Amino acid sequence: MKKLRRCDNCWTYTFKLKCPKCNNETKLAYPPKYSPKDKYGEYRRKIKYGN
Ligand SMILES: [Zn+2]
Repeated sequence: MKKLRRCDNCWTYTFKLKCPKCNNETKLAYPPKYSPKDKYGEYRRKIKYGN
């Protein structure tokens, strides 16, 4: 089953790993702990995705 993802750059919703508009890496659209508004979210994403 595909999961809806969202581009952090332009907020385009997609099922692809890369944004079709700006080629930015997309994130899962609905993990509540990983809000882009959360200043600690980026830190956690770096751990999870290893970048
Ligand atoms: Zn984008």
